[in-house]
Amino acid sequence: MKILRNTVIRAGLEALYFSGAHYLLRPIFAGVGAIFMLHHVRPSHDAEFQPNHHLEVEPDFLRAMLQHLRTLDIDLVSMDEAHVRLSQGNFTRRFACFTLDDGYRDNRDFALPVMREFDAPLTVYVASDFAEGSGRLWWVALEKVIAKATALEAPIGGVVTSFDTSTPAAKQAAFDRLHDWLRALPGEHDLQREISALCTRHDVDEAAIARDLCMSWDELKAFADSPLVTIGAHTVTHCNLAKQSEAVASFEIETSRARIEAALQRPVLHLAYPYGDRVAAGPREFAIARAAGFKTAVTTRPGMLFPESADHLTALQRVSLNGNYQDERIIPVLTSGAATAMWNGFRRIDAA
Ligand SMILES: [Zn+2]
Repeated sequence: MKILRNTVIRAGLEALYFSGAHYLLRPIFAGVGAIFMLHHVRPSHDAEFQPNHHLEVEPDFLRAMLQHLRTLDIDLVSMDEAHVRLSQGNFTRRFACFTLDDGYRDNRDFALPVMREFDAPLTVYVASDFAEGSGRLWWVALEKVIAKATALEAPIGGVVTSFDTSTPAAKQAAFDRLHDWLRALPGEHDLQREISALCTRHDVDEAAIARDLCMSWDELKAFADSPLVTIGAHTVTHCNLAKQSEAVASFEIETSRARIEAALQRPVLHLAYPYGDRVAAGPREFAIARAAGFKTAVTTRPGMLFPESADHLTALQRVSLNGNYQDERIIPVLTSGAATAMWNGFRRIDAA
């Protein structure tokens, strides 16, 4: 299913490119700016099984995007500056922000050097448990289990179900099924219990993943010293906020900010909702972020920024730089707003 979905999206992006529709749609859908969303930035590797590949782009693709934005004479600005321009209605120049979720070490090693070439600011949203080295990146744990196993079992809907994981195609199919199952479990502890059981059974060191991939507090402190870097909050445990009680959701948001501020000794004014889609962040979360005093909060709902985005500063949409579509031809499609407009059924704001 995921492969089909990727194919359909790629075909849509290519159709927009080859038809020139992105060029015609630009004046209507490009909006006043865009917030780009990334996760990992690192060189590609050639493993056949890379189910989380959509979460990583190569430094060259990031560079190509920045070059393209420079060619369009678009201002590359921080989230603070985006907040000022949106709230003051200052749209004399189009602008773009770059945001990276989770706090991966490759953001420092590969993204920052490219951003420096363009003097371009970046905002990195940190889940405080990841920086602490105690957080659980279950989607990476699942990848490691499946990469290692040739077969596995999981209690899907209470029924022990067997999966063949002996070939790359079988591994991908198992990953898609298990990923959807885990995300749909009712509580965060259910997800944690099941992924821990899989890790124990297949001898994967789940606890080492955050330390392997994410910047520690000390590393973040040095990283945040760069004048281009803004650190934002991304909750404590990287949970699905909408599934939590209101008290827990508020705690996750406010405590992550407090921990980052204490560790880095600088104010944290911007937030990204983990997962960030409709099932993970909605009006209740947008209100919590507003009440907590964040200047902005970003979702993963696709979209450009429009003047009316100023009315939804804690529900800002983003444009994903997806590792599965690193074809440089689609860059002008993404900046035209045509792709996100298509995904949104030509609605400009998605904040309900
Ligand atoms: Zn995240």
